[in-house]
Amino acid sequence: MYKDIATPGRTKEILERYGFSFKKSLGQNFLIDANILRKIVDVADISPDTGAIEIGPGIGALTEQLARRAKKVVAFEIDGRLLPILADTLSPYDNVRIFHQDVLKADLHAVIAEELADVSDRMVVANLPYYVTTPIIMKLLTERLPIRGMVVMLQKEVADRLAAKPGTKDYGSLTIAVQYYTEAEVVMTVPRTVFMPQPNVDSAVIRLVKRQHPPVVVDDEGVFFQVVRASFAQRRKTLFNNLTNNLPGGKENKEQIERVLVALGIDPRRRGETLDIAEFASLSNALAPLFG
Ligand code: SAM
Repeated sequence: MYKDIATPGRTKEILERYGFSFKKSLGQNFLIDANILRKIVDVADISPDTGAIEIGPGIGALTEQLARRAKKVVAFEIDGRLLPILADTLSPYDNVRIFHQDVLKADLHAVIAEELADVSDRMVVANLPYYVTTPIIMKLLTERLPIRGMVVMLQKEVADRLAAKPGTKDYGSLTIAVQYYTEAEVVMTVPRTVFMPQPNVDSAVIRLVKRQHPPVVVDDEGVFFQVVRASFAQRRKTLFNNLTNNLPGGKENKEQIERVLVALGIDPRRRGETLDIAEFASLSNALAPLFG
């Protein structure tokens, strides 16, 4: 077994050898605690049948832990300066493929079809760059990739939003989107001291397991997400005001919106954050004929 990359000493040595300087704008905070990385791999349930997809391998700290347990690892790194470093640090592993690419621009279906056609299980595992956490998660979810799910490190505050319950301050449109596609669970919180350089927020690891079927029946997903977003547009406003002000054509359909709410037994004076996903589904199904 090779020495772990994720120790303060080895990380410093690699960075110095290559004269690497961190780019804050790319969310470069590397993990220097191999135990936490191994826990992440455990929580993701990575086995010799798994194809792991990593976003932002950095100098390979998580990549090598994945390579030791998975059948294959495919990783996307935006920063070209890291490619020669990764070629060096990951040279002991022949099951890793690095793509020099912005993951937001990557054709993930094509990469999976090419690189991971022969695995029976696929999982995204990543210590995400914090400046693009939400767009990355939304891309992975909405593209309906053939994956089991994802285990990702992100800002604790965002993790709390993804796993929030109705009626709490963290509950919002992102919560509903994530819980529509996955079962979300915060599996550990991680102190800032295990990163180099230290970020100025605490972090958490969240596990999102893709649902086979959505938890609610939604007639028109476009209208569903429109209604959800409109309901949370101004958190201090009532549901009725948010819907009329923020749905396109909402003002012209004021009376119909009120009628729909009353017919569903949803008090128009409630706030969006008190509705659970089932209520959003019945509301959007009833509004779909008006807005679909
Ligand atoms: N996985 C490493 C670790 O845990 O030590 C590094 C994690 S660091 C938080 C995030 C990594 O994502 C950096 O290597 C950064 O260059 C890379 N990155 C940032 N934006 C990216 C993007 N849009 N696509 C792919 N990689 C990105």
